[in-house]
Amino acid sequence: MAEKILVTSALPYANGPIHLGHLAGAYLPADIFSRYHRLKGSDIIYICGSDEHGVPIMLRARKEHISPQVIVDRYHELNKKSFAGFGMSFDYYGRTSSPVHHQTSRDFFRTLARKKVFVLKKEKQLFDPEANIFLADRFVRGTCPVCGYEEAYGDQCEKCGSSLSPSELINPRSAITDAVPVLKETTHWYLPLAEFQKELEEWIGTHPEWKSNVLGQIKSWFNTGLTDRAVTRDLPWGVTVPEDVAREAGVDASGKVLYVWFDAPIGYISATKEWAEQQGNPDLWKDYWQDKKTRLIHFIGKDNIVFHCLIFPAMLMAHGDYVLPDNVPANEFLNLEGNKLSTSRNYAVWLDEYLQKFDPDALRYVLASNLPESRDTDFSWKEFQARHNNELADVLGNFINRTMTFVHKYFGGKVPEQKQLSELDSQLLTMLEQAPDKLGQLIDTFQIKAYVHELMNIARFANKYFNDKEPWITRKSDMDNCATTINLCLQTVRALSVLAEPLLPFTAQKIWQMLDMGEKHQWQEFMKSELPAGHSLQEPRILFTKIEDDAIEAEVKRLKQASPGEAKNEPELIDIETFGKIDLRVAEVLAAEPIKKSDKLLKLQIKVGTEQRQLVAGLAKHYKAGDLIGKKIIIVANLKPVKIRGQESQGMLLAASHDDRVILLTVMEDIPSGSPIR
Ligand SMILES: [Zn+2]
Repeated sequence: MAEKILVTSALPYANGPIHLGHLAGAYLPADIFSRYHRLKGSDIIYICGSDEHGVPIMLRARKEHISPQVIVDRYHELNKKSFAGFGMSFDYYGRTSSPVHHQTSRDFFRTLARKKVFVLKKEKQLFDPEANIFLADRFVRGTCPVCGYEEAYGDQCEKCGSSLSPSELINPRSAITDAVPVLKETTHWYLPLAEFQKELEEWIGTHPEWKSNVLGQIKSWFNTGLTDRAVTRDLPWGVTVPEDVAREAGVDASGKVLYVWFDAPIGYISATKEWAEQQGNPDLWKDYWQDKKTRLIHFIGKDNIVFHCLIFPAMLMAHGDYVLPDNVPANEFLNLEGNKLSTSRNYAVWLDEYLQKFDPDALRYVLASNLPESRDTDFSWKEFQARHNNELADVLGNFINRTMTFVHKYFGGKVPEQKQLSELDSQLLTMLEQAPDKLGQLIDTFQIKAYVHELMNIARFANKYFNDKEPWITRKSDMDNCATTINLCLQTVRALSVLAEPLLPFTAQKIWQMLDMGEKHQWQEFMKSELPAGHSLQEPRILFTKIEDDAIEAEVKRLKQASPGEAKNEPELIDIETFGKIDLRVAEVLAAEPIKKSDKLLKLQIKVGTEQRQLVAGLAKHYKAGDLIGKKIIIVANLKPVKIRGQESQGMLLAASHDDRVILLTVMEDIPSGSPIR
């Protein structure tokens, strides 16, 4: 029976265009996987759509003085078109502003509420008295309590990467009016994630085959301990909280919506429902979401691991009617010319702009050869040009072109007959016979880079075969041998077109036209048949035209202009006097305790020489308070004192950070506290 597979790619956020970092993270690998399974005959659907709720869309709409709907309409259409231009073979591309999605999300929320899964919490939140609105997430800006960056958002500091909650910001201000917010009481529904930790750990334990970068991040979440997550917000844009649920809970539902991260993954379900409706079989979505045999696979970037591996599965467990993901092959990040991609600085390669200048398969190939599967990778235009010209054009394109040209020149454009096979001929045939299993297995286990590598090895071998067999010589001396060589080269062209289809769908289509083979052949089956002798072929077409230096230089130049002075390679320099103003000292931790109602902050009592001080630091997710006592740390001793959560903080400690990890700096050997750092 055909394998049943439901593939999703992270719903792109509809407040900006898609860039190549997105493509490499969650879309291209999913498309290659889906195309392979379709060729193989699996029962597969590939679902995606626009995520159209959340604060960044509202902020953008306010900035442009238009409604959020105009923003999401604009980017939904633009991104849908870009994806189509790159051959993303979604079976359905939905949007979370659709009525089906709102209904599905409210039903989901209602089911969890009826099952008494949620916890209601009354709390004081920041409120903008001028705009008369609660300031969720990005609606607040202020100083980061971890690194001191003054433009941190209420949900995250973009400088140090710490995730924050609005009330942790120092000197908070409204992103809408710049007003100083006041605290106002409100009630929200929470998903008590801690109650699901055991069940989640058991379930993750049944998936040792998941990628190690994914399991590693999950493990660190488990080690820290899962905490309650608010699933509602006070916002005017989103899926409204069901009134009946609010009434039963004795809460005024007006102005309350589901948190965007609660409704977005439900978007996979609602988009599948809309797809089923389109198929004329409205219940068909259940075949995928409610059949235990379905392999549900979420393709995402690493920033979404917590949502797809912990929060959404907990929601699905709590609901009870749905399958859990079978795999979440998250990718790391792709950088661009050595720097992080940045939408706000226009430092990116936008897909819609790329498509105006280059072919989609060229980027598909170069990105797939260099996917950030287990670590961050870098895209450079020089490498793009080199890989396109030296690999796609000179290896794959050259082999197909020389074969097609030869058969038209010397065999009247008809497939010549296969005669006696030499050892080299058999070697080529064996390679082709083994290829579908070998390459298919790599794709099926999400080793896309390795698949691309093996695919190109076949093309390389085929070029060498052509050279070694010298058909331009045997044409005069041994016609049977020449015919056999060209016959096998044509069988190889046909095999390559099928094996490359998941990666290079546009090119594969062109090769099929050249070979004049009517129907599309299936992944395994094509090896059982062959191009028959005497079959007429179409004229050869050039598949890849070399990309010239000036086209590449123009792209590099544009990127340099997009990031003036911001490039990692050109950090702003300070003189020694400026550095000398910072008084760094060794301090000893005397006592440490968590701060009430904060899952991030610790309050430390430290000794600096003869002086004792208090420090507030965002360490609670990384260190247990007790483990810090007695440690010698490094502090900035002359930082202006600030109040964080009502607690005085006299200085700042130093820590190194990478992704989600924060490691405290300390001294290699014992030295008295108060010692200066030089
Ligand atoms: Zn920060």
